[in-house]
Amino acid sequence: MNYTRFLTARSRSRQSSPIRATADLLGKASKSLISLAPGYPNPNTFPFKTATITVENGTHIHFDEKLMHRALQYSESSGIPELLSWVKQLQIKLHNPPTVHYPPSQGQMDICITSGCQDGLCKVFEMIINPGDTILLNEPLYSGTIQAITPLGANIINVPGDEHGIIPSSLREILSKWKPEDSKDPKKKTPKFLYTIPNGSNPTGNSLTADRKKDIYELARKYDFLIIEDDPYYFIQFNKPWAPTFLSMDVDGRVIRADSFSKVLSSGLRIGFLTGPKPLIERIVLHSQVSVMNTCTFAQLMVSQLLHQWGEEGFWAHVHRTIEFYRSQRDAIVRAADKWLSGLAEWHVPKAGMFLWIKIKGIPDVKQLIGKKALEKEILLITGSAFYIDSSAPSPYFRACFSLVSPEQMDIVFQKLAQLIKESL
Ligand code: PLP
Repeated sequence: MNYTRFLTARSRSRQSSPIRATADLLGKASKSLISLAPGYPNPNTFPFKTATITVENGTHIHFDEKLMHRALQYSESSGIPELLSWVKQLQIKLHNPPTVHYPPSQGQMDICITSGCQDGLCKVFEMIINPGDTILLNEPLYSGTIQAITPLGANIINVPGDEHGIIPSSLREILSKWKPEDSKDPKKKTPKFLYTIPNGSNPTGNSLTADRKKDIYELARKYDFLIIEDDPYYFIQFNKPWAPTFLSMDVDGRVIRADSFSKVLSSGLRIGFLTGPKPLIERIVLHSQVSVMNTCTFAQLMVSQLLHQWGEEGFWAHVHRTIEFYRSQRDAIVRAADKWLSGLAEWHVPKAGMFLWIKIKGIPDVKQLIGKKALEKEILLITGSAFYIDSSAPSPYFRACFSLVSPEQMDIVFQKLAQLIKESL
């Protein structure tokens, strides 16, 4: 793969910071090394001394003074080594990416820790998009992506989808305006990437099937574009077997996968990770060197200590408990929708994630109903238009997030909403 053509001039020109490079050296250095190199503050002067965190099974993570010193200090821009190695093993086990054994320049799998996957994605978009570049995505779409992409001035093409995600035949038709060899000519503006949320998409709850992923990957090969797989709901999939990921199919090194611990360990700790070809991950790390410098060391150590303490078995036990929680929430919201909204609205039962995407029948634009009247009845939902690049366009949809409310509250919300819909028809 020639990665140069995907990079903006800004990203290509990023150089490693010599000071930051010493952080990497220090991480690997022997104990006898005397370093006067980095301008690190002395952690003895910091007011925080020790910490003990209680974990759900009654065990503890203890930060003694030594660990606390590390937690309060700068660290490697790509992530602390013990967390990186844990997630690397996880990725290999889960996705077995063909690129694991490739030479670095040919897209060898690499990983970096990011401050939530949003941080990683934002950097990926900045690495690739020049004004006027063509990119592919599937609306409606997570608003964090819309807000990150729109200022970059891309020519955005919306690929139609349904409850099984992006429709490959629609993608094929869109791409047919180019010839495969056009990707070699920058003037032809062939798509640089396709962005997708493959599981429990935000806001639709849709999940891409394995067959569709295979078709889409083949199109990416034919027209030489990258795939950005934004998958924060991966660990909240309700049905086994889980569909293989784009990363697992990536024989070329054209997939950048964004993972997140936000939905299963903590959203506030801000721990995510990007997996992708080394030449691209390196660019992201260079960006991190000059933006966050490193993802919060304390948060990384907290997560890493927990994961090492749990081992893989403990991690999956926790993930499965989380899945069961969201499954019962999903079932409850679908029951409430069936009870109150049947005949008035339509929805698909999500196979992953935490969102129910509902279309109200007979009301082409629900802005007034959801944005105003529902709020007057003390119901807060998000109108569908918030998930489109043109947020002024009418939408009959709204998003209901079922993560935080009780089944009783879901019932009350849909009962009130049914009343409002009937009054508006
Ligand atoms: N991508 C999607 C599709 C999301 O729904 C979210 C958060 O809701 C994110 C990315 C950001 O996740 P993180 O907390 O890991 O930054």
